[in-house]
Amino acid sequence: MSGTVHLVGSGPGAPDLLTLRAARLLERADIVFHDALVHPETLALAARAVKVAVGKRSGRLSTAQRFINKQLIDAAQKYPVVVRLKGGDPMLFGRAQEEIDALMAAGVTLQIVPGVSAAFAASADMQCSLTRRALARSVVFATPREAAGSRENTWAKAAAAADTAVLYMAAGEAQAVSAALIANGVPASRPAVIVENAANDERKIIPATAGSLHAAAQQLGAGPALVMVGEVYAGIVAAGLAWPAHASASLHESCL
Ligand code: SAH
Repeated sequence: MSGTVHLVGSGPGAPDLLTLRAARLLERADIVFHDALVHPETLALAARAVKVAVGKRSGRLSTAQRFINKQLIDAAQKYPVVVRLKGGDPMLFGRAQEEIDALMAAGVTLQIVPGVSAAFAASADMQCSLTRRALARSVVFATPREAAGSRENTWAKAAAAADTAVLYMAAGEAQAVSAALIANGVPASRPAVIVENAANDERKIIPATAGSLHAAAQQLGAGPALVMVGEVYAGIVAAGLAWPAHASASLHESCL
């Protein structure tokens, strides 16, 4: 037997922010390999599937990527519908390419289903666009997280050059992120915001500046968080809002 492996985006954590295509696939799935950020209700859609946690969260026990690749290839020999469920969109900071390359090399049929990335969920929560006419027309998705064998680290240069920078896996090293941005020419006063648990009821929106990310990060819990930097956040910073101490109507005005 030769099954198909589907790399599926599960969205930012809210179970209803899943594409219909993903939901239908989960219902048909024979086996689901999922990581830590996937909501239990999303997993519950895969009622008939074997569920295998291959959770990857920094600092916690994780399954080595090569072992995940092998598990996917082996599963495709056994099951017709194999789902690899990944947080957000699979093609952004999800190590999708390693899985794609391994599956292709093994001759396994592959399909990819996009998902809502954290940057879009956070922007929706804040009611604040990543882009804005006459103010922001470039957006960079970057991460300061280094992998073994990384190319020269250029994330901060790219983030500094963008009108809006969205930094994944960055809140845990907020001080170093501030320093790197400032070293690359970002004014310490440039507005920023840290958004934890975007799209979830426990979300937190913490106003900051490029230079004060460390202080802002002290207010974070243990959830996943994005650091977002740019003039588009000036209104939120000026209002000094901290979720949930505001009504969304005033938040919207603050972003105008
Ligand atoms: N593929 C995912 C990103 C995986 S990297 C996506 O497209 O969203 C994991 C990082 O994503 C976390 O460290 C955090 O920076 C961010 N992240 C994921 N879910 C998030 C959420 N609900 N709220 C804020 N940030 C989130």
